Amino acid sequence: MQKGLLIVISGASGTGKGTVCKKILADLPEVAYSISATTRTPRPGEVDGKEYYFLSRDEFKAWIAEEKFLEYAEVYGNFYGTPLNKIEERLNRGEDILLEIDVQGALNVKKKCPDGIYIFLLPPSLEELKRRIEGRGTETAESLARRLKNAVAEIEIGREYNYVVVNDTIENAVAQIKSIIAAERCKVERNPDKFQLGTRNKELGTSF
Ligand code: 5GP
Repeated sequence: MQKGLLIVISGASGTGKGTVCKKILADLPEVAYSISATTRTPRPGEVDGKEYYFLSRDEFKAWIAEEKFLEYAEVYGNFYGTPLNKIEERLNRGEDILLEIDVQGALNVKKKCPDGIYIFLLPPSLEELKRRIEGRGTETAESLARRLKNAVAEIEIGREYNYVVVNDTIENAVAQIKSIIAAERCKVERNPDKFQLGTRNKELGTSF
C-alpha cells in the first residue's frame, strides 16, 4: 500500500489558491482537505467545521497548549493552524491530504515532513495580483499596500518549495497541479512494493 501524499499549496493573498484548491478537490475525490483552525471571524457563507474551525483566541491558545497543531502561524493579525487530526495515521493508511496554508506554516511542515509535496502558486504578475485584490473590493488602500508588500516577501520564500505554478488561468494551474500529483505518485521511492514484480521477473528471467 502506497503512503498517502501530503500536498501543501501556498501563494500570496489574491493569487487564487482558494479557487484552485477547490477545483483540485472536486476533480480528485481521493484527496482530503485539511480543515484549518483560525481566530479570524467567519466571512459571509463560511461554516464552522467546513472552511475552518473558528476558534476564540483563548480556544486557539488552549489547542496550542494541548499540542493539537502540526503547525500554526499568525497571518494578518489572526492565528491559523493545521490540526494534527491524525494526519500521520491517515497518510500511512494511504489517504492523500491537501493543506492550503501560508508560507511560514508550510516551511514548518516541510521541516517535519520533507517527503511532502510543496507547491507554490504565483500570480502572472504583481500588476495582475493588485488588480485581483482590488477586484475583491474588501481592502482599504492601506491594507492593499500591506498585502502587496507582503506578497513580494512571500514570493521570495516560494523558492524554498518543490514546485512553482503560475495561476494565469484556473484551468492551466489545476492541470499542472494534477500532473505534479500524478508524477509524484509514480516516484520510485514512493513505490517500493511495485518492484516485488521486478524481483520475481529476475528469477523468471533465468528460465527465459
Ligand atoms: P484567509 O483568511 O484568507 O482564509 O487566509 C489567510 C491566509 O492564511 C492564507 O494565506 C491561507 O493560506 C493561510 N492559512 C489558512 N489556514 C492556515 C493554516 O492552518 N496554517 C497556516 N500557517 N496558514 C493558514
